[in-house]
Amino acid sequence: MNINAVNFDNSYARLPKKFYSNVLPTPVKKPNIIKFNTLLARDLGLQLNDIEKELFLSGNSLLSNSIPIAMAYAGHQFGHWVPQLGDGRAILLGEIIDKKGFRRDIQLKGCGPTPYSRMGDGRAWLGPILREYILSEAMNNIGIPTTRALSAISTGETVYREKEYPGAILTRVAYSHVRVGTFQYFASRKDLKGLKILADYIIKRHYKDCEKEKNPYLSLLKEIIKRQADLVSKWMGIGFIHGVLNTDNTSIYGETIDYGPCAFMDEYDSNKVFSSIDQAGRYAYKNQPEVIRWNLACLASCLLPLINEDEKKAVILAQSAIDEFPNIYNMYWLKIFRNKLGLRKNYEDDINLINDLLDIMEKDKTDFTLTFRAMSTLVNNDKSHFKNYFLNPNIIENWIEKWKNRLLLENENINNIINFLNKINPAYIPRNHRVEEIINEGLKGDYSYFERLNKILTKPFDNQNENVEYQIGPNETQRVSQTFCGT
Ligand code: AMP
Ligand code: MG
Repeated sequence: MNINAVNFDNSYARLPKKFYSNVLPTPVKKPNIIKFNTLLARDLGLQLNDIEKELFLSGNSLLSNSIPIAMAYAGHQFGHWVPQLGDGRAILLGEIIDKKGFRRDIQLKGCGPTPYSRMGDGRAWLGPILREYILSEAMNNIGIPTTRALSAISTGETVYREKEYPGAILTRVAYSHVRVGTFQYFASRKDLKGLKILADYIIKRHYKDCEKEKNPYLSLLKEIIKRQADLVSKWMGIGFIHGVLNTDNTSIYGETIDYGPCAFMDEYDSNKVFSSIDQAGRYAYKNQPEVIRWNLACLASCLLPLINEDEKKAVILAQSAIDEFPNIYNMYWLKIFRNKLGLRKNYEDDINLINDLLDIMEKDKTDFTLTFRAMSTLVNNDKSHFKNYFLNPNIIENWIEKWKNRLLLENENINNIINFLNKINPAYIPRNHRVEEIINEGLKGDYSYFERLNKILTKPFDNQNENVEYQIGPNETQRVSQTFCGT
């Protein structure tokens, strides 16, 4: 049975065959909807009855007009070149044109093997699916560009990892699933024609303004650099650690993609790493901007033949674009952290004020989220709450005095500052121990924990007095010290 849905198209499937493999989702035994994102479905203009939802979101039936494909890509994984990756456990069903006229990729994750599965089974178990649902939706609600979750379903089948787990499928929605690794796939094969088709597709779909520029491909590179600088600065602003920042997990559109071992830190530690496989700390919190720069340099080298026929000229142009990354990133970072302190004007010394606070926070191991959230209580001259997080009262007192003097220069009404701060610094983040809890309860068949956490995270900036225990960090028994790719 094919389900009728308006506004469904497959522009990526109209690209040459070498861009993907046609592959159908493998039907599952007994699909059951764990969560359907009604608000997102509304934005997409997607109307399905319950039976259709189950059939469509499990891959057991297709929407009419859908041409399912697995996308081809390559990538650097932890710095090591892998010439062939591709969607090994995900299938792109096509694109819905949403209510605003944007093309949104609809992809099933965990829906069976594809020609790119290598040794994998193409499946996912419940844990990573609940995790991605919660985290990606929380990121969106906090205001971070991200892929979205339309649904999580259980498959009624067993998935084998180190033991047996219930299988699950996530429906991921993205403005684009094209990655730096997609460009690397064609560039490494010296397929200039493919590379140009891909770049033109991306410009037409996402960066239309570049078309008019003198050098559209250099402009494309510059735009992607800006978006990625913006994205990574936003991660830094909320203490988010992606965990697997491989080039195949770096989106061309600048969305957070691939929620594997990612995590929010509790105590501020600039060297923090959660991922069990990131032994060397390549993707530690503080390394993220530099890694993104490195990934963008990989993209730049792919685009060279399109930027200029003369390789030397192309290198100079691309290099100067990449060299701008630190300036652009620092500008975004500074704005975010100024705002986190309630500052909107620009003074030269602000950077020292910010770094001084971060230094004290790191020494005293204060909770990243709670410390910034408490900034708004300081505005009212109630220092006790904020100071409580710190070990040495004199040191932080000294900082508070400097900050208060700087705040005066804002010349802003106190209530406005408080409101502003509480819209910048979330009260709620998906804390690792809570995510762990929803997975453990989900494995017992109880999704009420998932529901509650998800609901709390729809309003991350509200105080929600009835949920304050979800604001606080883990105690020693709840602490999650390592996360796993968990495929
Ligand atoms: P990721 O760690 O999610 O970025 O995945 C890296 C690569 O491994 C991608 O090509 C995935 O499609 C592939 N992959 C991960 N898990 C599986 C799985 N269970 N079955 C098949 N391929 C997988
Ligand atoms: Mg990936």
